[in-house]
Amino acid sequence: MIRVRIAPSPTGIPHIGNTRTALFNYLFARHNDGKFILRIEDTDRKRLVVGAKEAIIEILDWLGLEHDEEYIQSERIDIYKKYSEELLNNNIAYKDQGAVWLKVPKGKIFKWSDAIGNKQISFKSDVIEDFVIIKSDGFPTYHFANVVDDHLMDITHVIRGDEWISSTPKHLFLYEVFGWHAPVFAHLPVILGPDKSKLSKRHGAESVLYFRDQGYLKEALLNFMILLGWNPGEDREIMDMNTMIKLFDLKDINTGSPIFDIKKLDWINGVYIRQTQNSNLKTQIYEFYNGKYPDDMIEKTIPLIKERIKKLSDYLPLCEFFFNDPESYEVDVSDKKEVIRKVIKVIEKQDVWKADIIGEKMLDFAREIKIKNSEFFMTLRIAVTGKKISPPLNESMEILGKEKVIERLNKATS
Ligand code: GLU
Repeated sequence: MIRVRIAPSPTGIPHIGNTRTALFNYLFARHNDGKFILRIEDTDRKRLVVGAKEAIIEILDWLGLEHDEEYIQSERIDIYKKYSEELLNNNIAYKDQGAVWLKVPKGKIFKWSDAIGNKQISFKSDVIEDFVIIKSDGFPTYHFANVVDDHLMDITHVIRGDEWISSTPKHLFLYEVFGWHAPVFAHLPVILGPDKSKLSKRHGAESVLYFRDQGYLKEALLNFMILLGWNPGEDREIMDMNTMIKLFDLKDINTGSPIFDIKKLDWINGVYIRQTQNSNLKTQIYEFYNGKYPDDMIEKTIPLIKERIKKLSDYLPLCEFFFNDPESYEVDVSDKKEVIRKVIKVIEKQDVWKADIIGEKMLDFAREIKIKNSEFFMTLRIAVTGKKISPPLNESMEILGKEKVIERLNKATS
């Protein structure tokens, strides 16, 4: 049976890179009816970051990347000790300055065929120094605990970022000294920023929680991440989780580095927003703003903005005027008071409060007082919404209600 794991160290909050690794492992496990294991590698006690472990779990939960088994290395210290003693007894390891070291003989070659692109990779042992397996604080090093656990947990495929390639010869040597079978290694090309440099905070290196807090939908983020280095070999780009599971295969992972492009994420997120049913989108927006804005009003506004927003956080800048009176006007309308007073009169007489009827009346009015449509509607828009750009004005006025519109217009003339 296929068994894969992600092995995050709680030394920081997961970013797009680690999270893509989690997604690829998850998809590989599910595609093959295998197991997806979470192993927290918290043996580097000095580098632990408070809250990192919780953030790792929160991100996996949010994205729905459910694991089948969970292990925490700091609870398995006795196991690593036992295996290090075996190596000490066999004279393969030695103690020095309080730590346990593994002897690395010269003249050996460590090689493997990497599942990404079927590349043959080899290292001479001459370039590898003896290395620590148990530190003086009694905790194992990453290399040691990682290999012991991958063996004990029957991991069949190690799918991880290619920054670990240079660690792999040490791991192969450990498999060799224990007489264990090594798993298949698949090292994923690192994700680069748009300028082909290392990902920076500006693009993608921030915590995955940042994307959630910006109003990206988890389905969109998952879809975006799968395309970072993988494609199904056709033009299709938009895929739900079931499709991803069905199509995902290690052999289709590109050998070149994918580029993180926030515009693509925005585009995908927009597609998912438009695919979301209105009632569901209403709930998402309501929850995104922590219930601060009434959901019946949100619901009414959704048809007006669904095509225009790329992420949930775009909602409020467009729609705040539905909930709060404008505090300022983006254009000064103080010289338009006369026109506004006249239009209030027209609106007061308006019994049928429907967008198309309101629109007709407004056009008639503009014609009557011989003012250019564009100028008139800009004045009206500013007085009602405070903004130069808003969702369609007639529909917005219908939703706000006649009384509210009159109140706003009065305020603009005061
Ligand atoms: N603990 C390592 C990390 O933080 C795991 C690397 C691996 O998958 O072997 O990414």
